[in-house]
Order: sequence, then structure tokens, then C-alpha cells
Amino acid sequence: MNVLNADLHCHSTASDGTLPPASVVRRAHANGVDLLALTDHDELLGLPEAVATAEELGLRFVPGVEVSVSWLDQTVHVVGLGVDYTHQPLVDGLAHVRAGRDGRAARIAAELERIGISGALEGALRYAGNPSLLSRAHFARFLVEVGAARSVHQVFDHYLARGKPGYVEHVWATLDDAVGWIRGAGGLAVIAHPGRYRLSHAEMDILFDRFRDLGGEGLEVACGAHDGGQVLAFARLARKFGLLASRASDFHGPEDSLIDLGRAPLLPPDLTPVWTRLV
Ligand code: AMP
Ligand code: MN
Ligand code: MN
Ligand code: MN
Repeated sequence: MNVLNADLHCHSTASDGTLPPASVVRRAHANGVDLLALTDHDELLGLPEAVATAEELGLRFVPGVEVSVSWLDQTVHVVGLGVDYTHQPLVDGLAHVRAGRDGRAARIAAELERIGISGALEGALRYAGNPSLLSRAHFARFLVEVGAARSVHQVFDHYLARGKPGYVEHVWATLDDAVGWIRGAGGLAVIAHPGRYRLSHAEMDILFDRFRDLGGEGLEVACGAHDGGQVLAFARLARKFGLLASRASDFHGPEDSLIDLGRAPLLPPDLTPVWTRLV
């Protein structure tokens, strides 16, 4: 590999990953990652342990977060890289987003109850390493456990994706707030896994324009959710909008992820990688 093996987006038990922060860092190191960011959903709790483990191993580490945002009628994820995780507006903003998750979890459980699946809130909580961060991934693991579906992936197809019986609408942070919190904490804002959003080309352009106007700087071009064609398509958009390119596995655990830490596709070589601004 002629470039750094950077992995700038993954999860631990501080959100919906299945490995504790120290284990995520050790696994990344064992996989040959040179630069790692832990980016739990709406949560900074795992970062001190990850920083300490990375120091012990001599692995370069960037503190991060993945903020849930509502934009138009979609949920968009914005990754913050290199954030000061003691910065009060970021800490307070994320606490507010997490508080919204509690109400949403109760509504998801009520929807599942209506189709005859009871005890989902308690069931999901048993899978949560951090009770203040309940994710649909925790509900998915519970639904597999009770035999409602064969795999976490099938759960999303049948229950938890938009339009399915266990899905509820929810309003997350605004794009302005999310980018503002990240930048205020000294971080660099990156749009996560753009290939997952159901946005038209025109809407995607509006999103990237607005994101740039707010001071957002990066786009996840190479990630676990993108096939080769999508890597090329989002590379074109990174060039068009002058965005730095990020590379990320979005790893959630050995049994729960499309790809392992450090195994995302490589970035097209002409792009400016986001890590030129991080190291
Ligand atoms: P939430 O932020 O609570 O809405 O949960 C989103 C999380 O659910 C994502 O970060 C993934 O961990 C998981 N997820 C979403 N869609 C899928 C899918 N199709 N297959 C597997 N996991 C998914
Ligand atoms: Mn997740
Ligand atoms: Mn995400
Ligand atoms: Mn993620």
C-alpha cells in the first residue's frame, strides 16, 4: 500500500458496536491500520479508553464522533474528526441528541408491540453497552434473538427500515448544529457514507453546497457501504465540490460488519485525503 492505511469511522460498545473501545483499537492495530478514528453515534464516552490504548500501542489515533442529522426528509450522518471531546457545546449538543434517542426507542418498542413483539425495549437494552445510546442495531439483535428474522440485515429489510412496521420518524440534530459543534470543537466535518442516502443528484448537490457553506470539509468516498462504482461516483463529487476524501470501514464488530477495520477500498490517488489535515 503506497498510502497510509487510514480507517476514519468505526464503532464501539459506547454506541452500537460489539467490541469495547480498547478492543477496537487493538484489532485495528493488528489489521495494520496506521491511523484510526473511533466515531461512535452521538457519543464521546469511548474516546478516553481508545486514546489510552492507542498510545500504549503507538498507533496514531484521532478522536471522532458520528452525529445523526435530519436533512430534508432523510437521516444524514456527519462524522467529526479530531474533535476536542471536552468541548462543552459539543458535549451538550450530543447529550441533547441522545436524549431524543430514548423517546424514539420507546416509540419503536410500541410499534413492535402492535405487531405482536413484546419486551423489545428491555430486549434491546440487554444488547446496549451504553444504555443512553440505544440504536436500531440493538433492536435488530433482539429481533434476531427472538426469531423474528434470521439476520440483522433481514431485520432492517422487514422491520426497522423506513416504511416497515417497527420504523418511527425522528428529528435529529440540524446540519448547521452538527457542523457547528464539530468545528467549534476544533474538528473537521465529513459527510458519512453518502451512497446510503436516498437523495436525487440535485438534492445531493444542494446538501454538499450547504455543507461547504457551513464549513464542512470532507466526504467519505471509500467506505464499507460503497461498491466500486460508488467510490468512483463520490470521488467525482469530492472533486466537483472541493471536498477532502475520507476512507472508512464503519466497522461495528466482527460478526456485524460488511468489512473489517482497515479494509475499506483505496481512495483514487488524485484526491486529497482528509488525513493530510489530521497528521
Ligand atoms: P440508528 O442511528 O439508531 O437509527 O441506527 C442506525 C444503525 O443501524 C446504523 O449505524 C447501523 O449500525 C444499523 N443499520 C442501519 N441500516 C442497516 C442495515 N440495512 N443493515 C444492518 N445494519 C443497519
Ligand atoms: Mn451503527
Ligand atoms: Mn452512519
Ligand atoms: Mn457509522
